[in-house]
Amino acid sequence: MSAPDVVVVGAGPAGLAAAAILGRHGAAVTVVDEQEQPGGQIYRQPPAGFTPPAGSSSAGRALLAEATAAAGVRWLADTTVWGVLGTRAGLDGYAGDQPAPGRYRVATHGPAGVRLLEPRAVLLTAGAYDLPVPFPGWTLPGVLTAGGVQTFVKAQGLLPGGRFVLAGGHPLLLVVAAQLVRAGARVVEVALVQRRRDLLPGPAGLAAVAGAGGKIAEGVGALRVLRRAGVPVRFGTVVRRATGDPDLTSVTLAEVGPTGQPAPGTDREVPCDVLALGYGFVPSVELARQAGCAVDWDSPAGGWVVRHDEWLRTSVPRIAVAGELTGVAGAEQAAVEGRLAALGLLRDLGLLDEHRAAGLAGPVRRELRHRRRFVTRVLDRFAPDRAALGSLVTDDTVLCRCEEVRAGDVRRALRANPHLGTANAVKLVTRAGMGLCQGRSCQPGVCQLISDVTGRGPEQVGAFTAQAPVKPVPLRALAVGDEPPATD
Ligand SMILES: Cc1cc2nc3c(=O)[nH]c(=O)nc-3n(C[C@H](O)[C@H](O)[C@H](O)COP(=O)(O)OP(=O)(O)OC[C@H]3O[C@@H](n4cnc5c(N)ncnc54)[C@H](O)[C@@H]3O)c2cc1C
Repeated sequence: MSAPDVVVVGAGPAGLAAAAILGRHGAAVTVVDEQEQPGGQIYRQPPAGFTPPAGSSSAGRALLAEATAAAGVRWLADTTVWGVLGTRAGLDGYAGDQPAPGRYRVATHGPAGVRLLEPRAVLLTAGAYDLPVPFPGWTLPGVLTAGGVQTFVKAQGLLPGGRFVLAGGHPLLLVVAAQLVRAGARVVEVALVQRRRDLLPGPAGLAAVAGAGGKIAEGVGALRVLRRAGVPVRFGTVVRRATGDPDLTSVTLAEVGPTGQPAPGTDREVPCDVLALGYGFVPSVELARQAGCAVDWDSPAGGWVVRHDEWLRTSVPRIAVAGELTGVAGAEQAAVEGRLAALGLLRDLGLLDEHRAAGLAGPVRRELRHRRRFVTRVLDRFAPDRAALGSLVTDDTVLCRCEEVRAGDVRRALRANPHLGTANAVKLVTRAGMGLCQGRSCQPGVCQLISDVTGRGPEQVGAFTAQAPVKPVPLRALAVGDEPPATD
C-alpha cells in the first residue's frame, strides 16, 4: 500500500470527523488509535461482544458510521504513535536520513510491530486526560479520576467499588455520578469546589448558552437522577485528604473559604471505598510538543494548548491539530474543528482548490464561533483555581508517583538551589517526571509547586521536554533506525 496523504492520530470526535471529510475528498488517510475501537473518550465503545451501554450517543454512532464509510480511510487500532520524526533536524533522536520537507515519519507501535508511516501531512487529535491534582492520600488504591471510573463503567460494564464519593470542579462529575447511580452504585456524595452562586450565568452568559441545549440538558438530567436517588450534591466543598491503610476507607471534605482554600474548622470525614476526582482535563500535547509545534499557556482551556492558525495548522508545516489539543472544549467543538482542519489539509495538499475549500469552510467556521462562545463561558466558570488546589499539598504528599518524589523533596531542592525555576531543571535535580508516565501524572503538580515557591508564572516555569517515545513502548520499537520504513 502506498504512503498515506494524511496520518490522523486519534479516533475521537475530532479524528473521526476529519477522516470522513478527508476520505470523501479523495485523500488516502490512515487513522491510528491506541484503543481497540474508534470513538475516543466520549464515544468509547465496549469490546466486541459486549452490549453498548444504554444511552450510547447517536451523535457518536453517526460520526463513526460516516468515518468508516468514507473511501480511502484505513484504520490502525490498538496502535500507539510514539513520535513524529523528521520535523526537527538532529533533535528527534532518529539516526536515519531526514525525510523530504513536509514528509514526516510517524512512528507507531502495535500488534503488527513497529511501523514508520510517511504521510504528506499529519493531523494530531490526541484528545485530553484528567487533570491530576495532588493532595495527601491521592495515591491510595481507591482514589481514581472521574474519567477513569467512567471508563470502567462505559468500556467494561464494571463498578470499581461499592461506596463512591465524587469530588472536584468539573461538570463531568455530575454526569459520571448519574452514570454510576444508573449502573447500581451507591454514590455517597458529590462535592464541587464552586459555590452555587458562581455557577449561575449572568444575562450575557444566558445569551451564550442559548443553543447549547444538549449539554445543559445533560447536566440537568444528571442532577435529576442524583436528586431522585437521594445523592447529596454539595457546592463550595473541597476534598483535602484521602485516608486508609492499605486501601481508601474515607475522605476528608471541607468547606471552601473566601480565598478558595479549605476553611479552618469545617472538616468532615466521609466513609467510602472509591474517590473519583474530576477537576478538568489536560490537553494531550506531548506529541505536538515532541514534533516541535509551538504551544501557549491557557489555564481555563486546560494548560498548554497548541498554537494554530485559522486552518488549525501548527507552527510546523503540514502538521495540523483539532479537538482538545487546541484547548479543552468538548466533543461537539472537537468534531467541528476536525472538519475545518481536514479542509485546510485538503487545500494545502492540492486535493481541494482554494476557492472550494474556503466555501466549504465558511459554515464550519460559523458553527465553531457559536460553539466557542458557549465553551468560553463554561470554561470560565469551571476553571481550576490552581493556586488554591496547590495549597492542599503537604511536604509528605507524593507528587511524582513513578519516581516517588514528594513535595518536600521539590521544596528542599528549590530552597537549596535558588537559581532553579523551570520544570526541566527541577526534573533533573529531583527525578520528578522521569518515570514511565513521562510527567503526565505529575507535571501539573510539580509546575504549580515551582510557581508557588518561586513566584514564577507558568510560562516561565515551562513544561518537561517532550521527547520520543512520548508513550511507553518496548525497547525494540526504538531499534528501527537502520531498517527501511514500512509504509503499511
Ligand atoms: C476520561 C474522559 C472522559 C470523558 N467523558 C466525557 C463525558 O462523559 N461527556 C462529555 O461530554 N465529555 C467527556 N469527555 C470529554 C470529551 O471526551 C472530549 O471533549 C472529546 O472526546 C474530545 O474529542 P477529541 O477527538 O479531541 O479527543 P478524544 O475523544 O480524547 O480522542 C483522542 C483519541 O486519541 C487517541 N490517542 C491519544 N494519544 C495517542 C497516541 N499517542 N497514539 C495513538 N492514539 C492516541 C486516544 O486513544 C483517543 O481515542 C471526557 C474526556 C475524558 C478524557
